[in-house]
Amino acid sequence: MISTKKIQMVDLKGQYQKIKAEVDAGIQEVLDTTAFINGPAVKQFQADLENYLGVKHVIPCANGTDALQITMMALGLKPGDEVITASYTYVATAEVIGLLGLTPVLVDVNPDTFEIDLNAVEKNITAKTKAIVPVHLFGQCVNMERLMQIAEKNNLFVIEDVAQAIGANYTFSNGKTAKAGTMGTIGCTSFFPSKNLGCYGDGGAMYTNNDELAKKMRMIAHHGQSVQYVHDVLGVNSRLDTIQAAILKVKLKHLDEYAAARNRAADYYDKAFANHPKLKTPVRSKHSDHVFHQYTLQLKGIDRTSLREKLAERGIPAMIYYPIPLHHQKAFASSRFIDKDFPVTLKLCASVLSLPMHTELDEETLSYITNTVLELTA
Ligand SMILES: *Cc1c(COP(=O)(O)O)cnc(C)c1O
Repeated sequence: MISTKKIQMVDLKGQYQKIKAEVDAGIQEVLDTTAFINGPAVKQFQADLENYLGVKHVIPCANGTDALQITMMALGLKPGDEVITASYTYVATAEVIGLLGLTPVLVDVNPDTFEIDLNAVEKNITAKTKAIVPVHLFGQCVNMERLMQIAEKNNLFVIEDVAQAIGANYTFSNGKTAKAGTMGTIGCTSFFPSKNLGCYGDGGAMYTNNDELAKKMRMIAHHGQSVQYVHDVLGVNSRLDTIQAAILKVKLKHLDEYAAARNRAADYYDKAFANHPKLKTPVRSKHSDHVFHQYTLQLKGIDRTSLREKLAERGIPAMIYYPIPLHHQKAFASSRFIDKDFPVTLKLCASVLSLPMHTELDEETLSYITNTVLELTA
């Protein structure tokens, strides 16, 4: 090993050390005021995030999965309604669709950008379709311009899953830009510790420019309550706790700097693996910048299991996001899903490998990782 530091997929400790004084002071303030539930930091973070995103309403909640669930409840989706999303994503996206008795319609993705295949989306729209859930996977936005056109034409809601892409900017063909999650009907994000804006526990939020929906989401997240002890609809209990909000308030100020650090690491990887016959580096989309939640390679003619083991022996972790497509999971078993409709998803699940990606990767570490990967894939 070149360094005494252990290489990690995500270095939360190194990141914390740099903002420790400010984070500790924020946490201490919550302890001193004992405002644990809905304390001032929650409102402050909400306002800061609304400002950062350029969106009218941010509704904090307990985690990203709740954000998706509350969103689908607020949109009034009912059992039998169909919701289209990608088979190649984290389970939470499709899980809440099934949990609410809605029908998940899984479709394939694009082989270059990993984003939902919009031709497949169009093909799968039926009279029952109510919403599309694009996932801005690994930190890069789906082609939202075309997706919004499809949604408008078919009168569908768009729920952006921004859990991996907070802060990414999307550029429309007229030059206008928007932050990921602020283009559809509602955006849903997660503050899970390893996400690009992560807290030190669980957290999540919904964004929207629609006043009526914002009110509904707030109500549903708070037991369906309109006025204290008056419950108009069935809701859930889903809050961002004050300690997490205090931490997020500090970290939000660094989010752009964090994205820049991730991009520097991605550039280093890209350069080292450029024109490698067996490694396909992530393709940067023309319409979105990339915040590199993950740096995901596609391996060609390489035994992935053996490469992963050899990397681990040299102290380099590498992860498979995601090994099993959702349409193969028992939880989503349905006769409507046929493998021939998912060639890209199946190929990706069998060939992707994500390298360490975080805000604290220094040149020495990057050099060690890239040299080792090059040696093992020569
Ligand atoms: C992390 C993640 C979620 C869920 O967020 P939690 O806060 O863990 O509930 C949803 N969708 C995607 C794409 C994710 O990566």
